[in-house]
Amino acid sequence: MAYKAPVGQIDFILTHVVPFGDLAATQMFAEATSDTASAILAEAGKMASAVLAPLNRAGDLTPARLENGAVRSSPGYAEGFRAIADGGWIGVAANPEHGGMGLPQSLNMAVSEMMAGACLALQLNPLLTQGQIEALEHHASDDLKALYLPKLISGEWSGTMNLTEPGAGSDVGALVSKAVPNGDGTYSVTGQKIFITWGDSDVTENTCHLVLARLPDGAKGTRGISLFMVPKFIPDAAGKPGIGNSLKVVSLEEKLGIHGSPTCVMSFDGATGWLVGAEHKGMAAMFTMMNVARLGVGMQGVGVAEAALQQAVAYATDRNQMGPIIAHPDVRRMLATARAEVFAARAIGLACATAIDLDRATGDAEHAARAAFLTPIAKAYGTDVGCRVADTGVQVHGGMGYVEETGAAQYLRDVRITPIYEGTNGIQAMDLVGRKLSDGGDAAMRLLDEVLDGAKAAQADLPDLAHQLWQGAETLREATQALLDRDLTVRFAGAVPFLTAFARVLGAHYHLRAARAGGAQHLALARVFMARVLPRNAGDLAEALAGLDDLTGIDDAALAGEFGA
Ligand SMILES: Cc1cc2nc3c(=O)[nH]c(=O)nc-3n(C[C@H](O)[C@H](O)[C@H](O)COP(=O)(O)OP(=O)(O)OC[C@H]3O[C@@H](n4cnc5c(N)ncnc54)[C@H](O)[C@@H]3O)c2cc1C
Repeated sequence: MAYKAPVGQIDFILTHVVPFGDLAATQMFAEATSDTASAILAEAGKMASAVLAPLNRAGDLTPARLENGAVRSSPGYAEGFRAIADGGWIGVAANPEHGGMGLPQSLNMAVSEMMAGACLALQLNPLLTQGQIEALEHHASDDLKALYLPKLISGEWSGTMNLTEPGAGSDVGALVSKAVPNGDGTYSVTGQKIFITWGDSDVTENTCHLVLARLPDGAKGTRGISLFMVPKFIPDAAGKPGIGNSLKVVSLEEKLGIHGSPTCVMSFDGATGWLVGAEHKGMAAMFTMMNVARLGVGMQGVGVAEAALQQAVAYATDRNQMGPIIAHPDVRRMLATARAEVFAARAIGLACATAIDLDRATGDAEHAARAAFLTPIAKAYGTDVGCRVADTGVQVHGGMGYVEETGAAQYLRDVRITPIYEGTNGIQAMDLVGRKLSDGGDAAMRLLDEVLDGAKAAQADLPDLAHQLWQGAETLREATQALLDRDLTVRFAGAVPFLTAFARVLGAHYHLRAARAGGAQHLALARVFMARVLPRNAGDLAEALAGLDDLTGIDDAALAGEFGA
């Protein structure tokens, strides 16, 4: 069945569940009225459904390939990318000074979700380009901004992000790529990078690499890393792609999914680069890029979950086995639980985006703290839901889910990367219980206060749901306090289940808001979430607080299945 962009569902969340409405009252986002938002969502939704979704299968069947050192993209991708660029969808949140729309990230993330649901492999290109735009806007010199931003925003050029090396994955500080000053303001960049998404393409006339490398006097670890703009073609005096730079695509990875997205091994051999931000401050600049990309990846999970679920519901409606399978309690359980989780993940992602916007528009530190706290949750929960729902989609299809012709299997293969890249979900969870609790739990407790207020407000009209939410939030508050009292290494052992439990309480909170603002269907969905999803917190919080001793108590040999005598 054809993907239909969930314009109405997103519009409802922006209107009734997250404080998107507050943005139009700020000077920065005065144009982000609900009418503008609806018009943008409708237009982007049309493009995603009509232009991008039909390309999804083609990319899977005909992967991007390397020919004479250049990437040839999947059939139709060039036209699809042009539709994204011409619609202005790369620059939704970019500065109007350089051709962007200057709209809130909340709208950008909503558009990203729809494009990812339609065609994840292609959407990765604008996602990374947007991250690069963000990093340049905040950290690049005026000259670099003037040269690169208009081209990236218009989609004439695209952007990549080069962190990973064979010996430096989660531990970015271990990277060995080098940069040496040329004495004329440029640098010579040398090194190998792996897993570089859209490291080359024929959908744009230039590919601009942001590369992390170490200067000769750079300290070890992350503090000694600098960031460089290294274009495939060095712009000439007129700003057009000029001579080729000393870099190449060595090979493309063969992957489980997202076959339409070229994942490149890159080699930089004394390539000319320009410093972005200050020397040795590359990680700060890269974090700007990664923060937006992290939330964007969370929304990728939501997008694919939506697409997979739409297809599962359509299949369950048509398929008869002792009646339509959609009527069987177990199939209904799978579909209803999936729908409830998709709503929760989408609401968390959009709440995070709105907090980012409110921080930018008001400079209020509370919004900044909230955005920072929600980012790892939105990334990890959104992508976990993506995998869970795509898996459910396969199960609902029965045997037809395991064969490729329905497309259910492709969703599962494609979305499986999302909990891994942009910082694995394990690393996200460690960020949550480490850095994001380093304020003594202030940001966490403020969020929980808001949840408890929400439960209180709902007591009169929906007492049962309000009670379930109240209990869930109180239990989580106690667990958060208990975690705060532990050493970091002990906290890390429970980080992933803690993050998931936090996401569920937030999800329940947004469900209750929706139930109060919406009709009977939202109420029914909230009941599903409270009855079937929130109770899983009991298990997860028990694990979050289980400590470390049991894990260190089992040795490596036993893990390998060798138990000796
Ligand atoms: C399709 C694809 C596209 C990608 N695109 C890009 C890109 O465009 N640019 C780019 O720079 N990179 C990209 N990556 C790389 C990606 O971001 C990394 O794969 C990811 O960060 C994990 O690093 P790693 O693969 O080295 O795994 P590792 O770091 O080796 O991790 C392996 C496992 O160990 C865990 N782990 C590692 N360290 C710790 C720790 N300290 N504590 C607890 N657990 C830990 C991880 O959570 C994971 O489960 C891409 C990867 C793929 C597969």
